[in-house]
Amino acid sequence: MSTLNLENSPRTVRTELDIPYRHVDTHFIGGQWVQAHASERADVVDPATGQVWGSVPRGNDDDLNAAVAAAKDAFDAGAWSGLEAAERAQYLNRIADEIEARADILSWTNSLENGSPVAETAGAAANAAGIFRYFATLAHVIDEEDVRPAPRGGFSSTVKRDPVGVCALIAPWNFPINLVVIKLAPALLAGCTVVIKPASPTPVSIRIVMDAIAAAGVPAGMVNMVTGSGQMGDKLVRHPDVAKVAFTGSTPVGRKIAAACGELLRPVTLELGGKSSAVILPDVDVEVLRANLVRSCLRNTGQTCYISTRLIVPTSRYEEIVQLVAEEISGAAQGDPLAEATVFGPCATESQYNTVLEYIDSAKAEGARCVTGGEPADLAGELGQGFFVKPTVFADVTPDMRIAREEIFGPVISMIKYDDSSGVEEAIAIANNTEFGLGGIVFTADEEAGRAVAEKIDSGSVGVNFFASNHAAPFGGRHDSGMGVEYGPEGLHAYLSYKSIHHR
Ligand code: NAP
Ligand code: MG
Repeated sequence: MSTLNLENSPRTVRTELDIPYRHVDTHFIGGQWVQAHASERADVVDPATGQVWGSVPRGNDDDLNAAVAAAKDAFDAGAWSGLEAAERAQYLNRIADEIEARADILSWTNSLENGSPVAETAGAAANAAGIFRYFATLAHVIDEEDVRPAPRGGFSSTVKRDPVGVCALIAPWNFPINLVVIKLAPALLAGCTVVIKPASPTPVSIRIVMDAIAAAGVPAGMVNMVTGSGQMGDKLVRHPDVAKVAFTGSTPVGRKIAAACGELLRPVTLELGGKSSAVILPDVDVEVLRANLVRSCLRNTGQTCYISTRLIVPTSRYEEIVQLVAEEISGAAQGDPLAEATVFGPCATESQYNTVLEYIDSAKAEGARCVTGGEPADLAGELGQGFFVKPTVFADVTPDMRIAREEIFGPVISMIKYDDSSGVEEAIAIANNTEFGLGGIVFTADEEAGRAVAEKIDSGSVGVNFFASNHAAPFGGRHDSGMGVEYGPEGLHAYLSYKSIHHR
């Protein structure tokens, strides 16, 4: 494994950068940074070094109520929802520009918060801007007059698309910018106002997005953000003035939120965990597999919801592919997330680090064969205190093992064998033998055969020979991976409330 020479590392340079929010005592409420009521604070830790580099307020009831009140007042005043969607779309485009103008600081702050390599976070601003610009193109979905004659005659109905109201946006730590923006852009286009709760490990990069929104001239109160615990998140979900909840995070928390929203009859979108599979057909082009492996199967050090961490490999090519995967994974640089060459960073938090090591132990105890990795990474200097686990490949994994069934959310690949003498059916059955249904890939030299297998995978998105998300196509999970979708016009509909006005 190649590790980085710290003397050549840009860490020193970049951590001295003027990150605008290191130790802060404010929330973003009513268009400005407002002093927190709470005196309690939460540390922000650099997972690459284990060092605390910032702190934010742990919001209390007063902070939360102030944020929801600002969002409700702004919604009720109607200045935002009263605009044509096409006018709101212009603000979305301005927000995109302001986010792009902050690309470097967003990237470095995100990398310092959660250890995502800069090679990953360098694209975060462009991606976020792309989401705002995409939703700006959907203004017509809201603005176009939609008059529908009743099929039995006699009258017509004008279908209006109203904003649902104040939306609670709750995000996880793995992509702290994207997973807010994917909710925020359609919510704003729809005419909603929002309260954002970022995940506790990643409360800083989102502040820079708030600055971009303010700089874009978005009227005060449309977008509010409070930092605080999961308990505060629960209060936000249940707040009487919240009309809709959009959540990305773990399945257990998603169930609690769904239960609360069920009781309250409150619409909710849930993007939850996954355990997706790469089905490898016997004719796989190994160079295509090699080129797509890290991004499709271990993106962001294995901390991506849709990645295919289970490789389902034909017996006829099993050892060859195990060797290729091990070679590719062990050859990718692990080290300082702030260095441009880094492919694998640390786990985002100490607790995630411990969870990953526990899964590795369980795999060994259950008899899986560790081909590479399988232990903490031994890095030098200050990185030696970071939460690094070596990228790990287990072969001879059987579908009943814990690492084959449960979401690990770390750099661990499980390679499962299928008997290809009678076709691909067994591989599809293994891929579908999961409670989740989020992503998936098929690797094959025969594009048509790949599409046919993709059709049989019981999941919200499947790629043929690669995986990507498309802002224009719905993204969401089936089964324990969630309810509802984000992206595309379908993702916009979640923020709209329909009204039919009947007339003759
Ligand atoms: P998490 O523990 O479920 O937390 C997600 C967010 O919910 C955080 O902001 C968290 O706050 C908050 N929260 C915790 N308990 C809550 C409650 N009872 N009510 C309301 N909010 C609550 O997930 P995570 O550990 O941050 O992220 C990892 C998980 O996200 C993985 O399972 C991954 O698969 C999933 N994920 C899914 C997608 C997708 O699109 N399907 C994308 C990315 C990640 P605190 O941080 O303060 O606890
Ligand atoms: Mg968590």
